[in-house]
Amino acid sequence: MTTTPFQLVNICTGKKHTAIYYAVLKKAILIDTGLGVANIKKVIESLTLLPVTVVTTHIHWDHIGGHKYFNTIAVHEAEKEWLSVKFPIPLQVVKGNLMCKPCDFPLDFKIDNYQIYQGIPQVILHDGDCIDLGNRKLIVLHTPGHSPGHCCFYEPKRTYLFSGDLIYSGCLDAFYPTTDPQLFWQSVRKIQSLEISKILPGHHQLSIDTNIINKIETAFRSLSEKGDLEQGNGIFTFADFQIHI
Ligand SMILES: [Zn+2]
Ligand SMILES: [Zn+2]
Repeated sequence: MTTTPFQLVNICTGKKHTAIYYAVLKKAILIDTGLGVANIKKVIESLTLLPVTVVTTHIHWDHIGGHKYFNTIAVHEAEKEWLSVKFPIPLQVVKGNLMCKPCDFPLDFKIDNYQIYQGIPQVILHDGDCIDLGNRKLIVLHTPGHSPGHCCFYEPKRTYLFSGDLIYSGCLDAFYPTTDPQLFWQSVRKIQSLEISKILPGHHQLSIDTNIINKIETAFRSLSEKGDLEQGNGIFTFADFQIHI
């Protein structure tokens, strides 16, 4: 239905924005599905009637809320059981996060009915896999640290990086028990070696300077050199972002 090869949908979540990306040529993919407080599928159906594969940066509640509306879900092998067996963060903690800041929820949304999505993934992603949409190709980059199966998606032709929760201009989270600050740093180093002209992050501003990757790497390096890169050390503030470990 659409003549636009690339669309971007952005949902307000109060203090943050969860960005959702949508690319289409012969096939369509949707990278993450947001909170699940509204029916994202209606938005997608207004853009295309092509079959949609949901490609997941990672299994955190604010990235999988709308997975329930789709039949084909891709997730990294390290987090397939978070989706299909048990999500590691309690529902009450998730509800608290959802409601902690004012948010313009749809009128029919009721927090009492909110559930963390659980389901069986149809596609298992691995580092280096190619997601082929016809004349657009994305490479899966396993970038653990924020979560064990976190992935970024890199489009070599356009040098775009879909960075999920690895790179954004906000508070980078590596404080949950399931996070690993050292791996987070190594993942930033991994994508630092790529040529990147545009970053499409999972939260906050959508237009950010690509040099933020170098700044985040430098920040992690300085924390490591000072012996601070260990969980429980709190929030460290830098010019364009924070690191919570
Ligand atoms: Zn996350
Ligand atoms: Zn997130």
